[in-house]
Amino acid sequence: MGDYFQSIVDRDVTEADAAPLAARVVAWLVAEGVIGPERTELVLGKGPGYPPGPRIREVVDSTGWGEPWQGGPLDVEVTRTVFDAGQGADPASAGCPRCERDVEFHEEDWEEIPGAWDPFSEALTDWEEGGEGLVRCVHCDGSSPLADWTGMDGCFAFGNLGFTFWGWPDLTAAFLAEFDRRLDGHRTAFMSGKL
Ligand SMILES: [Zn+2]
Repeated sequence: MGDYFQSIVDRDVTEADAAPLAARVVAWLVAEGVIGPERTELVLGKGPGYPPGPRIREVVDSTGWGEPWQGGPLDVEVTRTVFDAGQGADPASAGCPRCERDVEFHEEDWEEIPGAWDPFSEALTDWEEGGEGLVRCVHCDGSSPLADWTGMDGCFAFGNLGFTFWGWPDLTAAFLAEFDRRLDGHRTAFMSGKL
Protein backbone atom coordinates (compact mmCIF):
# COMPACT_ATOMS: atom_id res chain seq x y z
CA MET A 1 0.00 0.00 0.00
CA GLY A 2 3.03 2.23 -0.44
CA ASP A 3 1.40 4.25 -3.21
CA TYR A 4 -1.61 5.25 -1.08
CA PHE A 5 -1.37 8.82 0.14
CA GLN A 6 -3.20 11.39 2.23
CA SER A 7 -2.65 15.13 1.78
CA ILE A 8 -3.48 18.02 4.07
CA VAL A 9 -3.40 21.30 2.13
CA ASP A 10 -3.41 24.80 3.62
CA ARG A 11 -5.55 26.86 1.21
CA ASP A 12 -4.92 30.26 2.77
CA VAL A 13 -1.25 30.60 3.72
CA THR A 14 0.80 32.99 1.56
CA GLU A 15 3.91 31.81 -0.25
CA ALA A 16 6.04 33.91 2.10
CA ASP A 17 4.50 32.35 5.21
CA ALA A 18 4.45 28.76 3.93
CA ALA A 19 8.00 27.74 4.89
CA PRO A 20 7.95 29.18 8.45
CA LEU A 21 4.53 27.62 9.09
CA ALA A 22 5.74 24.28 7.71
CA ALA A 23 8.74 24.43 10.06
CA ARG A 24 6.45 24.95 13.08
CA VAL A 25 4.21 22.03 12.10
CA VAL A 26 7.20 19.75 11.46
CA ALA A 27 8.65 20.70 14.88
CA TRP A 28 5.32 19.75 16.47
CA LEU A 29 5.18 16.41 14.61
CA VAL A 30 8.77 15.61 15.61
CA ALA A 31 8.11 16.55 19.25
CA GLU A 32 5.06 14.24 19.25
CA GLY A 33 7.11 11.38 17.79
CA VAL A 34 4.86 11.20 14.72
CA ILE A 35 7.82 11.70 12.35
CA GLY A 36 11.59 11.57 12.63
CA PRO A 37 13.54 14.86 12.63
CA GLU A 38 15.70 14.39 9.52
CA ARG A 39 14.63 13.99 5.90
CA THR A 40 16.05 10.56 5.29
CA GLU A 41 13.37 8.79 3.23
CA LEU A 42 13.06 9.29 -0.48
CA VAL A 43 9.66 10.37 -1.82
CA LEU A 44 8.90 8.94 -5.25
CA GLY A 45 9.77 11.53 -7.89
CA LYS A 46 10.78 14.13 -5.29
CA GLY A 47 13.47 14.83 -2.76
CA PRO A 48 13.80 13.21 0.64
CA GLY A 49 10.91 13.27 3.13
CA TYR A 50 10.54 12.71 6.85
CA PRO A 51 10.41 9.11 8.07
CA PRO A 52 7.54 7.95 10.30
CA GLY A 53 8.28 8.31 14.01
CA PRO A 54 7.94 5.91 16.95
CA ARG A 55 4.40 7.10 17.78
CA ILE A 56 2.88 6.81 14.29
CA ARG A 57 0.37 4.28 15.62
CA GLU A 58 -1.26 6.89 17.83
CA VAL A 59 -2.40 9.04 14.89
CA VAL A 60 -3.67 6.39 12.47
CA ASP A 61 -6.38 3.74 12.31
CA SER A 62 -4.60 0.63 11.04
CA THR A 63 -7.67 -1.62 11.18
CA GLY A 64 -7.44 -3.96 8.22
CA TRP A 65 -3.73 -3.45 7.70
CA GLY A 66 -1.67 -6.65 7.90
CA GLU A 67 1.00 -6.67 10.59
CA PRO A 68 3.69 -5.62 10.54
CA TRP A 69 3.05 -2.60 8.34
CA GLN A 70 5.47 0.20 7.70
CA GLY A 71 4.49 3.81 6.93
CA GLY A 72 6.32 5.73 4.22
CA PRO A 73 7.73 9.25 4.20
CA LEU A 74 6.02 12.58 4.85
CA ASP A 75 6.52 15.01 1.97
CA VAL A 76 6.19 18.73 2.74
CA GLU A 77 5.57 21.18 -0.12
CA VAL A 78 6.11 24.89 0.54
CA THR A 79 5.49 26.29 -2.93
CA ARG A 80 2.37 26.97 -4.97
CA THR A 81 1.12 23.54 -5.92
CA VAL A 82 -1.89 21.84 -7.46
CA PHE A 83 -2.43 18.83 -5.23
CA ASP A 84 -4.36 16.07 -6.91
CA ALA A 85 -5.71 12.69 -5.91
CA GLY A 86 -3.70 10.73 -8.47
CA GLN A 87 -5.84 8.05 -10.09
CA GLY A 88 -8.88 9.47 -8.29
CA ALA A 89 -8.45 12.97 -9.72
CA ASP A 90 -11.21 12.58 -12.29
CA PRO A 91 -14.12 14.81 -11.33
CA ALA A 92 -17.50 14.17 -12.97
CA SER A 93 -18.36 17.84 -13.20
CA ALA A 94 -17.61 21.29 -11.78
CA GLY A 95 -20.10 23.89 -10.59
CA CYS A 96 -19.81 27.49 -11.78
CA PRO A 97 -19.65 29.82 -8.76
CA ARG A 98 -21.54 32.51 -10.70
CA CYS A 99 -24.52 30.76 -12.27
CA GLU A 100 -24.28 27.55 -10.19
CA ARG A 101 -24.77 25.38 -13.26
CA ASP A 102 -22.61 22.30 -13.77
CA VAL A 103 -20.08 21.75 -16.50
CA GLU A 104 -20.01 18.02 -17.17
CA PHE A 105 -16.76 16.26 -18.08
CA HIS A 106 -18.18 12.84 -18.85
CA GLU A 107 -21.09 11.28 -20.66
CA GLU A 108 -23.32 9.00 -18.64
CA ASP A 109 -21.25 6.01 -19.71
CA TRP A 110 -18.17 7.85 -18.35
CA GLU A 111 -16.85 8.56 -21.86
CA GLU A 112 -14.99 11.87 -21.79
CA ILE A 113 -16.78 14.80 -23.39
CA PRO A 114 -14.23 16.11 -25.91
CA GLY A 115 -12.78 19.48 -24.91
CA ALA A 116 -14.84 19.86 -21.75
CA TRP A 117 -11.85 19.56 -19.44
CA ASP A 118 -9.48 21.68 -21.57
CA PRO A 119 -10.25 25.10 -20.02
CA PHE A 120 -9.80 23.60 -16.55
CA SER A 121 -6.55 21.93 -17.55
CA GLU A 122 -5.23 25.25 -18.88
CA ALA A 123 -6.33 27.00 -15.69
CA LEU A 124 -4.51 24.43 -13.55
CA THR A 125 -1.28 25.22 -15.40
CA ASP A 126 -1.91 28.96 -15.21
CA TRP A 127 -2.57 28.79 -11.45
CA GLU A 128 0.56 26.73 -10.90
CA GLU A 129 2.58 29.35 -12.74
CA GLY A 130 1.28 32.14 -10.51
CA GLY A 131 -1.85 33.21 -12.40
CA GLU A 132 -5.42 33.34 -11.14
CA GLY A 133 -6.41 30.21 -13.06
CA LEU A 134 -9.57 31.74 -14.51
CA VAL A 135 -12.08 29.43 -16.18
CA ARG A 136 -14.82 30.78 -18.43
CA CYS A 137 -18.20 29.15 -17.91
CA VAL A 138 -19.85 27.72 -21.03
CA HIS A 139 -23.29 28.52 -19.60
CA CYS A 140 -23.04 32.13 -18.36
CA ASP A 141 -19.77 33.20 -20.02
CA GLY A 142 -18.48 34.52 -16.68
CA SER A 143 -14.89 33.79 -15.63
CA SER A 144 -14.07 32.56 -12.14
CA PRO A 145 -10.87 31.34 -10.47
CA LEU A 146 -10.48 27.57 -10.56
CA ALA A 147 -10.38 27.38 -6.76
CA ASP A 148 -13.91 28.87 -6.58
CA TRP A 149 -15.52 26.21 -8.79
CA THR A 150 -17.37 23.63 -6.70
CA GLY A 151 -17.63 19.87 -6.87
CA MET A 152 -13.93 19.08 -7.38
CA ASP A 153 -13.05 18.74 -3.69
CA GLY A 154 -11.33 15.46 -3.11
CA CYS A 155 -9.81 15.60 -6.60
CA PHE A 156 -7.88 18.85 -6.54
CA ALA A 157 -6.69 21.27 -3.88
CA PHE A 158 -4.79 24.50 -4.38
CA GLY A 159 -2.33 25.94 -1.90
CA ASN A 160 1.18 27.05 -1.04
CA LEU A 161 1.65 24.44 1.68
CA GLY A 162 0.81 20.77 1.72
CA PHE A 163 1.70 17.71 3.78
CA THR A 164 1.50 14.34 2.05
CA PHE A 165 1.71 11.15 4.10
CA TRP A 166 2.79 8.26 1.88
CA GLY A 167 1.67 4.75 2.75
CA TRP A 168 0.16 5.60 6.14
CA PRO A 169 -3.09 4.01 7.32
CA ASP A 170 -5.98 6.50 7.58
CA LEU A 171 -5.14 9.45 9.80
CA THR A 172 -7.54 9.72 12.73
CA ALA A 173 -10.15 12.47 12.96
CA ALA A 174 -8.57 13.69 16.22
CA PHE A 175 -5.17 14.02 14.56
CA LEU A 176 -6.62 15.84 11.55
CA ALA A 177 -8.47 18.25 13.83
CA GLU A 178 -5.31 19.00 15.80
CA PHE A 179 -3.39 19.39 12.53
CA ASP A 180 -5.92 21.99 11.36
CA ARG A 181 -5.47 23.95 14.57
CA ARG A 182 -1.70 24.00 13.99
CA LEU A 183 -2.32 25.66 10.61
CA ASP A 184 -3.41 28.89 12.31
CA GLY A 185 -7.11 28.29 11.63
CA HIS A 186 -6.64 28.52 7.87
CA ARG A 187 -9.04 26.79 5.49
CA THR A 188 -7.68 23.37 4.66
CA ALA A 189 -8.41 20.60 2.21
CA PHE A 190 -7.96 16.90 2.85
CA MET A 191 -7.44 14.47 0.04
CA SER A 192 -6.51 10.84 -0.28
CA GLY A 193 -5.63 8.85 -3.36
CA LYS A 194 -3.29 6.51 -5.12
CA LEU A 195 -0.64 6.96 -7.72
ZN1 LIG B 1 -21.70 30.01 -15.10
